[in-house]
Amino acid sequence: MFSKQLWNNCKAELKQKLNPHNYDSWIAPISYVSTKDNTMTLSVPSAFFISWIEEHYKSQIIDFIKESSGNTINLNFVVAAEVVVGDKPAEKGKAPTADSILAQSRARAFLNEKYTFKNFIVGKSNEFCNATCKAVTKKIGEIYNPLFIYGGVGLGKTHLLQAIGNAVIDKNPEANVLYISSEKFVNSLINALQQGSMSKFRRKYRSLDVLLVDDIQFIGGKERTQEEFFHTFNSLFELKKQIVITSDKFPKDIKNLELRLRSRFAWGLIADIQPPELEIKIAILQKIANENGVVLEEGVATFLAEKIKSNIRELEGCLARVMAYSSLTGRHMDIDLAEETLRGIYDDAVRTVDIRQIQRAVCDFYKLKINDLKSKNRSKNIALPRHVAIYLGREFTSMSLPEIGKAFGGRDHTTVMHAVAKIKNELEINTQLYNEINEIKSSLNL
Ligand code: ADP
Ligand code: MG
Repeated sequence: MFSKQLWNNCKAELKQKLNPHNYDSWIAPISYVSTKDNTMTLSVPSAFFISWIEEHYKSQIIDFIKESSGNTINLNFVVAAEVVVGDKPAEKGKAPTADSILAQSRARAFLNEKYTFKNFIVGKSNEFCNATCKAVTKKIGEIYNPLFIYGGVGLGKTHLLQAIGNAVIDKNPEANVLYISSEKFVNSLINALQQGSMSKFRRKYRSLDVLLVDDIQFIGGKERTQEEFFHTFNSLFELKKQIVITSDKFPKDIKNLELRLRSRFAWGLIADIQPPELEIKIAILQKIANENGVVLEEGVATFLAEKIKSNIRELEGCLARVMAYSSLTGRHMDIDLAEETLRGIYDDAVRTVDIRQIQRAVCDFYKLKINDLKSKNRSKNIALPRHVAIYLGREFTSMSLPEIGKAFGGRDHTTVMHAVAKIKNELEINTQLYNEINEIKSSLNL
């Protein structure tokens, strides 16, 4: 006899077996309708559920019923709206598509389909980070855990983080992925504490396959959150579940971040996104223009790309403004129009730095005096910082080689060239130096 009780037992069993997220999404909404002959009819909220459940849970349900009653049954699913008399069968006849299943999985994970690897433009400044993010989706939890994505504002961190989630779900729509900003994590923790639902909170986070935390820097100073995040991190890490974190600061520079978290963030891999080079900026502009069916002249693209130093969000905003202005006025989108539209608006987005600021930042970092940089002292602990400062001067100011030499105690231009080449070479192989220079750059907002 297949009764409602049998179905309820089956539900209880699945609740034990499945992770809570899947149970709540797929099994909890199923209701018992009737049993006739050898067929049990169950109702589900929409047509979309049917193929999903048939593919993923049907055999488990049938097995359970066979084990507990000794009978093999057929399962028949109907859409709930069709069962209720008088309710219109909204979904009737609409077969669930792979797309709609993906859409639901994405929504559950708080992912936006517009952020994919496919539409992420790769160049020198972000290729390392892009490659590590992709690698993570191929071996979830196995290679870089956690993966810590570091980069300035508007450089594509959220885009890549979401792209990881989308790629994982594309491969397996059932993967339990969650994208969350650290601010939202804080709020949901506060809610859980207020409502006394901490065990539910913990269960939710600890049952994930992939946790994507955006802008972790905001948990600095929030002790209770850090404590909870620490435990979440540990549980996921021990289970080899993937954790990906983004931040616009190095773990070391996040203010009031507990040491134990700081060290864990560096357990896996820190992958950084550098400010974009001109070619990437132009390619991004062309892509946006294309998507909008607008022809973007090369000169205009270059003008915009040069105007906005690094922030890609600003770059997009810039182009949107020019396109809007052109369509409002009916004028051709040329450089004159672009200049006119943007006059005075984005000027302060161009960051400049002078050689003294660079020298100060380098000295602060290596604990030296400015005079050390200008001195003849060639001991390693002074020569290296001097070379770093010269390199940064060459990269980020418009000074000539002799001018830079002069700023470093009257060195000649070949010495400057030599220092720049030396650091460039070192950067290819020396990750410690690479990180040090990044920190100095970030202290200069470069
Ligand atoms: P962040 O999180 O680092 O502040 P976002 O990921 O929000 O930056 O990126 C800002 C905007 O720039 C987004 O619309 C993103 O899609 C776009 N963007 C950034 N980098 C790229 C890239 N390499 N290719 C295409 N779009 C990009
Ligand atoms: Mg972001």
